[in-house]
Amino acid sequence: MHPDTLGSSDTIVAIATPPGRSAIGMVRLSGPDSLRFCQKIFRTRSAGWPRPQQASTGELVDPNSLETIDQAVVCYFKAPHSYSGEDIVEFNCHGSPIVLQMVVRSLVALGARLARPGEFTLRAFIHGKIDLPQAEGVRDLIDAQTEYQSKIALQQIQGSLSKEIEPCKVSLLDLIVRMETAVEFADERLVDLENTRIGETIQGIIRQFKRLVDSFQFGRVVREGLDLAILGKPNVGKSSIFNGLLRKDRAIVTEMPGTTRDTVAEATTFEGVPVRLIDTAGVRITSDPVELIGIERTRRATADADLVLLVFDSSCPFDDQDFELIDVTSSTRRLMALNKIDLPTHGQFQARVPQQTLSLMHKISAKSGAGLAELKGAILQTVFSRTELSGEDAILTNVRHSQILESAIIELEKATEAVLSGMSEEVTLSHLNQTLTWLGELTGETTVEDILDRIFATFCIGK
Ligand code: GDP
Repeated sequence: MHPDTLGSSDTIVAIATPPGRSAIGMVRLSGPDSLRFCQKIFRTRSAGWPRPQQASTGELVDPNSLETIDQAVVCYFKAPHSYSGEDIVEFNCHGSPIVLQMVVRSLVALGARLARPGEFTLRAFIHGKIDLPQAEGVRDLIDAQTEYQSKIALQQIQGSLSKEIEPCKVSLLDLIVRMETAVEFADERLVDLENTRIGETIQGIIRQFKRLVDSFQFGRVVREGLDLAILGKPNVGKSSIFNGLLRKDRAIVTEMPGTTRDTVAEATTFEGVPVRLIDTAGVRITSDPVELIGIERTRRATADADLVLLVFDSSCPFDDQDFELIDVTSSTRRLMALNKIDLPTHGQFQARVPQQTLSLMHKISAKSGAGLAELKGAILQTVFSRTELSGEDAILTNVRHSQILESAIIELEKATEAVLSGMSEEVTLSHLNQTLTWLGELTGETTVEDILDRIFATFCIGK
């Protein structure tokens, strides 16, 4: 893929609305011949048309037979004041798939080419209307499944990431220029740069990048969802809690220990954050082969989960298996819940459970629903900090961005090492320049074509 072939040489067309019947369907045309093609199929009595940025009603006709295809409202956006930065014409037709296809076919007959996925946005990127993270934000907004995901994606479209990266880039460039000048005029001692000042500047940039990389832990969850595994002995109420958190009946609730043999996963949202609840088979020593498979799945689900919820039953004795569960998950991010508080607490319970552990347990009743809302809140707070949930700072939601920033941090750390160990300025400079290259790749200034190919292939057609 080369910007020249994609940039503006041809005119592309696509249906921009989803497949199927609807009130309105839109066909979009972008490129240098947009207006010319439009004038061959659009008949309007609006005086002064085509006037940029103005809608006009009229009839669409087949360019060969001159038969009327539909009545439409047509908008013309003159370059560079359009989404793609090129001349764009949008045909708002009746939402009949047949009509829309006829319009597309007519435009293709005139010389337009069918657009590839994301090609309108790619053109916006190539014409400098948006940078790469903003383009990726457009895709994420279209793909968003929760309000929170759409909020984060919109912030990215508005340049939240680019705005945070830009000051770092400016101070990096400034440092490079000053260091290069110092090297150039080393004999004349005109520019004298203190190593500690250089080190401080680099550290400041590292801090900023690290905050962004750390935010990816949250961003990944916003995008892909939080995996929460529910763990506990058979019959403690895991399936009931699972259902209580989901507020619908998905897992089977039974009174026979060990009947939730498989892991059951279901998606829901907590405050707009997608959450995948994984109800696991009860952990216990068993010789039943079917249950053994379930237990193995439990282990795997725990290893993959972002958070584990340990469930205990307050109406039963607290036994060695419960202690074992606490032990096994000691290095896992976890929450503990004491279920069935609507029933009398078992006498042995208070005596066996250490007071400190007891105080960490969220007291709930899956049956009455008591404590479930608080438990939800605690789940979110365990994974995210307050500032992340408030969505005030830029958040990385994209693994590409996170990996690039991690590479940039490694370069900056090497630069710091070079400065502190008194290596020549050239060594430091090469690491700083490499950092700049990484930043260029992040924003798309120096991104190679096959990366662009891969990114835009994940868009939908017509965007
Ligand atoms: P699991 O094996 O851990 O998934 O447990 P289930 O969710 O299947 O629940 C086992 C039994 O405990 C069922 O009879 C539930 O109705 C009951 N149960 C679950 N939670 C509560 C609760 O909070 N209070 C009471 N009284 N019973 C509960």
